[in-house]
Order: sequence, then C-alpha cells, then structure tokens
Amino acid sequence: CGIVGYAGLNDAKDILVKGLEKLEYRGYDSAGIAVHNNDGVTLFKEKGRIADLRGAIDWHVETTIGIGHTRWATHGVPNRLNAHPHQSATGRFTLVHNGVIENYHLLQNTYLKGIEMQSDTDTEVIVQLIDLFVTEGLTTEQAFRKTLGLLHGSYAIALLDANDTTTIYVAKNKSPLLVGVGEGFNVVASDAMAMLQVTDRYIELHDKEVVIVTKEQVTITTLEGTVLTREPYTVALDM
Ligand code: GLU
Repeated sequence: CGIVGYAGLNDAKDILVKGLEKLEYRGYDSAGIAVHNNDGVTLFKEKGRIADLRGAIDWHVETTIGIGHTRWATHGVPNRLNAHPHQSATGRFTLVHNGVIENYHLLQNTYLKGIEMQSDTDTEVIVQLIDLFVTEGLTTEQAFRKTLGLLHGSYAIALLDANDTTTIYVAKNKSPLLVGVGEGFNVVASDAMAMLQVTDRYIELHDKEVVIVTKEQVTITTLEGTVLTREPYTVALDM
C-alpha cells in the first residue's frame, strides 16, 4: 500500500499514476487518484491493478494537483466502494489513508451519528470528521489538526479541499510518508522511489506533524502549530 501527492505545474494524473506504479511492490488490492480541476475534485478509483485504474481515468481532465493511493484492505472488503480516495458527505473533502484507525467505531458513534457512511472502511471517519468540524466553523487546517488529535492508530494521510485548488494537507503517525521538493512543484510519497521521476530531494516527516504542501512551499508544523525548519536530503539515484 502507498500514497502519492503532487502540486505543481505539469499534468498531475500522469505523475500520480507513475508514482503508484513504483509503489506496486508494496502490495495492494485497489488503487485510486483524486485531482483538482476547474469543477472541483474528480475521483477515479478501481479494484485491481494500476493498469485497471489507468483505464478508468479520463485523461482529458486538466489538473496540476492531486493525490493517489494503493490500498491494502484492513477494514472493508477490497472493492471499488472501499477503494481510496474517500470523500466526505458534502463532497468538499477528499482523502487517502494508509494504516489503521483503531478507534474509528468510537469516533463514528461519538461524532458522526447523523452521517450516512459510504464505505466500510475505518478511513472514512477521518474525512467525515474534518468536514463536520469545518461545517461547525473551523478552517480546514484547524479541522485537520483537531481530527488528527482524535485519532488512535497508524496513518499516512493526504487531504484535498475542493474549495482550495492549491493545497495538500499531509500527516503521518507510525506509517511512512515523505515530502519531496522541486522547482515549481512539491510532492508527497510513502517511498522516495515513487517520486524519483520528478525529484531526488526529500524531507523526512516525524509522527504527528502537520504539513501544508503547495507548489511553492512546504510548511512543517507540530500538531499544536509551531513551525519547524528541516532541510531536504538528496536521495542517491540508483534506478
Ligand atoms: N485501513 C484502511 C482501509 O482498509 C487503509 C488500508 C491501507 O493502508 O491501504 O481502507
């Protein structure tokens, strides 16, 4: 399983799918991508091989920012419905997740009683909680932080907000995730190998940090919001 993300100037679909292909070795049962275009966020996902996902994508959609996922099912059978990305009830938020949310049932019963879940995954509570907290008045960043504070378990997460065409929200806990930096673009990946196609410079992320990624900038903060400085390292190209 794995995660990729791209915010830049070129066609995001192609970079995301190539990245997912590089993560195939990690094992997966389904795959998907979500990209911003002029009409909001568009989702493509499929059970089975990345080749099947390729066939399901509308390659005419113009986009320079998006997220992608290969799933290794832990909660909910491997099918198209349970494949990531997952979208909130209002459609505003779209999220990919690797890992296991141990308290998803409790969170669902505590906060999401009124919301009809669309999948059988533990993941869906994350995106529904973010949407709920935004509906209650928080900004996306505040809602993301509040939600992360409630999660028990392991996660690598990338989130898109349909109302913001510039930003990918990122966080990890006990699951691998890196940010790759470039000129005019930045990327997210479970493994540097996925994005060596576009950059060999990576920044390591620590558990429970919150990272805001745009094509111009990578801002790493603690969960509480303190901004951190961390230099990228160069991965030796050995492909
Ligand atoms: N627990 C999540 C699910 O079953 C994520 C699995 C993964 O890491 O791919 O959908």
